[in-house]
Amino acid sequence: MSNTGYITEDTIVALATSSGTNGAIAVIRVSGQNAIKITNEIFKGKNLLQQASHTIHFGTIRDGEEIIDEVLVSLFVAPNSYTRENSVEISTHNSKYIIERVVNLLIKKGARAARPGEFTLRAFLNGGMDLSQAEAVADLIASNSAASHQVAMQQMRGGFSNQLKSLREDLIHFASLIELELDFSEEDVEFANRDQLKNLINKIQVIVQKLVQSFEQGNVLKNGVPVVIAGKPNVGKSTLLNAFLNEERAIVSDIAGTTRDTIEDEINIHGVTFRFIDTAGIRETADVIEAKGVERTREKMKQARLIIYLFDPTQDKVEEVQAQLPEIERLQIPFVTIINKSDLLSEAQKEVYNVLNPLYISAKEQIGVEELKDELINRVQLGNLNTDDVMVTNIRHVEALQKTADSLDRVIYGIDNPVTSDFLAMDIRQALYHLGEITGSVSTDDLLDNIFSKFCIGK
Ligand code: GDP
Repeated sequence: MSNTGYITEDTIVALATSSGTNGAIAVIRVSGQNAIKITNEIFKGKNLLQQASHTIHFGTIRDGEEIIDEVLVSLFVAPNSYTRENSVEISTHNSKYIIERVVNLLIKKGARAARPGEFTLRAFLNGGMDLSQAEAVADLIASNSAASHQVAMQQMRGGFSNQLKSLREDLIHFASLIELELDFSEEDVEFANRDQLKNLINKIQVIVQKLVQSFEQGNVLKNGVPVVIAGKPNVGKSTLLNAFLNEERAIVSDIAGTTRDTIEDEINIHGVTFRFIDTAGIRETADVIEAKGVERTREKMKQARLIIYLFDPTQDKVEEVQAQLPEIERLQIPFVTIINKSDLLSEAQKEVYNVLNPLYISAKEQIGVEELKDELINRVQLGNLNTDDVMVTNIRHVEALQKTADSLDRVIYGIDNPVTSDFLAMDIRQALYHLGEITGSVSTDDLLDNIFSKFCIGK
């Protein structure tokens, strides 16, 4: 990429597996022109320089005569590697001491420590993937539900980029026709048929709008559905949250040796993550009717895409519940009306609350919690979600798409209110620029720094 100042001649090294786990194996990644040569200098077993790409070799890593570890070395010869450079993956035993020794040895022989995301940055700079695919690698690593995994996988495999690429090509064609007109400006010719251009732009606008609209759902799939559990003090909000979370923990701890490092206030329902907002302060998410704290509560609830509103029938009669509803409705966020503590109600008592069309649960006795989960899925309308659809999950992409749409609007305006070809060409170039920002065909060092610095080292 000519427009970046990155130098990729040097050879980089980093631990690619996560440090500090109890795993048996660690993988050290080396990439760059001299990756195989440098590794060969500390490896004893075979001459790695004479081995074919995509082969694995057993041997020892040595510092002089001292054996540091017995290892497996995987070879990838350029351009057939993730980074498109010569690459080596050394599988060592997962000891902090061994890893440090091996990495330091490689550095001593001429490699340097990789910066965050530098392997993926190189994959991008060397044309192995476009920018949106590189970003999807980070999403894939961060994915923690079936839905977020599927969306990231789809983007990484290029579903999203392919669609943009063909749009851009069509537009480039028109931009060059219009620019040709500029060369013949004296002769008042039109190479670019305006009706055809308008048709194309309308077609692109439909797709761009669809992608922009997919963001809401894509974002939810990637980051989880923000949910608030609300209701007066003592209605059972914490108990319900614990009922959700405990079940999760039980599932997770069934798998021997796993540690749970995900955030504690997320649950996974049918492959979709629900994220509870500010559950630490859940007790403060108190009565919306109370004058005090109403504003704060409302602000918190506004962040939600869904509200689980709990009522305690031992505290509130049906009329009192009804009196609270308009206040919740005013927020214009979907909410589920829950009558909690149903274990304390007789069937006859329950009937009184039926006018509210609520869900009856007992958070404490774990009754109705599964039905509530199904209801949550229904309410966010992800039930018939098709994750095969191309979906935008990245705020950077959606912003670029919106700017593309604005530029295209100006092109349409320019066609309808004849402006000179140079203005038309400029607006088309603008649209191309913003589309290019997504895939990285237009990029700056600042943008790349911003994206790749968020990666971990070794990715
Ligand atoms: P919060 O203030 O809304 O978070 O309410 P808590 O979750 O702390 O619950 C308040 C009290 O209600 C506690 O003593 C809970 O054990 C009790 N509680 C919560 N859910 C139920 C339920 O479904 N049935 C019964 N009988 N008690 C419950």
